[in-house]
Amino acid sequence: MTKEIILSGMRPTGRLHLGNYLGAMKNWIAMQDDYNCYFEIADWHALMSDYGDPGSVTRNSRDMLCVWLAVGLDPEKCVIFRQSDVPEHLELFFIFSTITPLGWLERCPTYKEALVNNDKKDIRNYAFLGYPSLQAADIALYRADKVPVGKDQLPHLELTREVIRRFNHLYNTDVMTEPGEVLTKVQKLKGTDGRKMSKSYGNTIYLTEEKASLKKKVNKMVTDPARIRVDDKGHPEVCSVFSYQKIFNQNEAEKINNECKSGTIGCVKCKKKLLNNLNDFIQPIREKYLYYKENTKKVNKILEDGNRRAKKTASENLKLFRKEMNYG
Ligand code: SF4
Repeated sequence: MTKEIILSGMRPTGRLHLGNYLGAMKNWIAMQDDYNCYFEIADWHALMSDYGDPGSVTRNSRDMLCVWLAVGLDPEKCVIFRQSDVPEHLELFFIFSTITPLGWLERCPTYKEALVNNDKKDIRNYAFLGYPSLQAADIALYRADKVPVGKDQLPHLELTREVIRRFNHLYNTDVMTEPGEVLTKVQKLKGTDGRKMSKSYGNTIYLTEEKASLKKKVNKMVTDPARIRVDDKGHPEVCSVFSYQKIFNQNEAEKINNECKSGTIGCVKCKKKLLNNLNDFIQPIREKYLYYKENTKKVNKILEDGNRRAKKTASENLKLFRKEMNYG
């Protein structure tokens, strides 16, 4: 039986953290065996906001690839490629730009949200408005059957479907596949200070975090403010440390929950347990990441191979689409 095609990607805008892993990569790794997966380093998407420092996009793309490989994306099982190395993405983006009404883009909720929330970078540019069109092109180009999404990304996917439906309708064809969603289980992880995890708040833990800085971050984590003395009864449900214990120290979480509530474990000891478990999780990733960082030739080869495979599919499909448009 032919496997369904999955397309997903990530913008290379900085170091990857635990939230990125739980929100996307963990699901990708699980999908590699069951689907024909394409994973895209979405560097054109990153350039829309990081145009002031294109070099950072190049560096982050490379870094992202090394982390993907370190956490377990397997180039033998999936196609890993960089968006800007497959020019067909921009070609289909332009075709979609001609058929996407401006109102659809202006009304896109995530676009409006980004304009309000992004106070550090000026994203009021022509390309950023077209973000959903490029995203639609990324998906359509591989005729993806499914896209892994969290609930909050559903409006974007719906816009992709609308653009694809419009293409098929305008050119009286069914050549483009309308993608369905794989609603992924996203384990939400808050920042170390209990706020939303965000690089701009400085409350993230990186997937390649060094042990010394990991220790500092765990020690600074916000706990239950009601606990002053070791034997004070605590409320683990309001404690950042406990929210991490539930994910990274599952074997002991229940015990810690009870001990915290009865005031029989101190926060120092509790944090030590978390630190050990987090380090056990991060250390092998960090080691593999450093291996890939040093093995430039190997990583180049993996990317070249992925780009070649992606380009083959993308150019074949694009030819088909243009034929259906009766265009060139
Ligand atoms: S004992 Fe652990 S769970 Fe309880 S408040 Fe302290 S750090 Fe949080």
